[in-house]
Amino acid sequence: MQDIRELTLEELEKIMMRIGLPDFHARQIYAWIYQKGVSGFSQMTDLPLVLRRKLSEEFFFNQAKVIRTASSCDGTEKLLLRLEDNYVIEVVIIPASRRITGCVSTQVGCKFACSFCASGIQGFKRNLSCAEIVDEVLRIKGYLKNANLTHIVFMGTGEPLDNYDNLFKAVRIINSPAGLHIGTRRITISTAGFVPGIRKMAKEGMQVELSISLHAATDTLRSKLMPINKRYPLAELISVCKDYIRQTRRQITFEYILIAGVNSTLQEADNLARMLSGLRLCKVNLIPANAVRELGVYPPDKIEILSFRQALLRQGIHVTLRKSRGQDIEAACGQLRLRDEEK
Ligand code: SAH
Repeated sequence: MQDIRELTLEELEKIMMRIGLPDFHARQIYAWIYQKGVSGFSQMTDLPLVLRRKLSEEFFFNQAKVIRTASSCDGTEKLLLRLEDNYVIEVVIIPASRRITGCVSTQVGCKFACSFCASGIQGFKRNLSCAEIVDEVLRIKGYLKNANLTHIVFMGTGEPLDNYDNLFKAVRIINSPAGLHIGTRRITISTAGFVPGIRKMAKEGMQVELSISLHAATDTLRSKLMPINKRYPLAELISVCKDYIRQTRRQITFEYILIAGVNSTLQEADNLARMLSGLRLCKVNLIPANAVRELGVYPPDKIEILSFRQALLRQGIHVTLRKSRGQDIEAACGQLRLRDEEK
């Protein structure tokens, strides 16, 4: 038995042929699951009865339960989802003027223990399966009812590229016109700098957006903030980014969170500008850190943030400054973790 949302359309078509039925049934099944949001084979009323029976013998739906929701005063919403083995994960819905973004998790917990991020506090539990990742998107769609989910960012808990195969299979289903039909350019994969994953992604031939959580421009500081830097230091990371841009001709976004007293001096801005000067297609997204009290993480003051941005602009770096959302419900980047009372 398998969760049916583990299957790409092509795989489902092959199964139809194997059981001697026309392959167009695969598209019908996809439409029921991903467009009409059903989660039971008996509801798929335009399928022959024998097929419905056969499907329920071979497949199931492991639908996560929405056990709690929280709404921020800025419109951001957080859903807590309980998985079949009782682990709880979080997804965040971020409405903006003409878009609604779903922020999705790829792992239960995180191995990477970045010093500023709450998601690593309780360590790593397990990877999410493809079906569980796709299910997060379906739960968001169900919650939104008629509002249209337009963008997906893999910026929830976990390191997406450390769960590569499940992630990319889920991306294919999310992108499939017969499935959730969210364009690849509206899907962003964010990584702490998992070099082998970036290398593999360059060959994937998919136009998804790549974001790299950089946060420091010297190895000494970055290794202190992000232990992954000891395994894949900056020279290696930047070199793989160059290859990625050359192979895909796509821009990379470097996320740089500004943390008071840690990485927000003008010296750091100069280091950053120098490091990125050799990359043709890139931009820096500055994000004032979201407070994580137990880690002593706070944003710098406004003047320091603006001077940092100015220093990058002066050196010809393309910079955006991101407004953080959902802080009052601990739904902002780096704040996702489960408090005991939430489990
Ligand atoms: N592991 C991936 C995906 C997580 S995305 C990655 O590292 O990119 C979550 C984003 O939130 C990352 O850019 C991460 O660095 C950032 N983040 C973590 N803690 C934060 C904090 N306290 N304030 C703002 N952003 C934070």
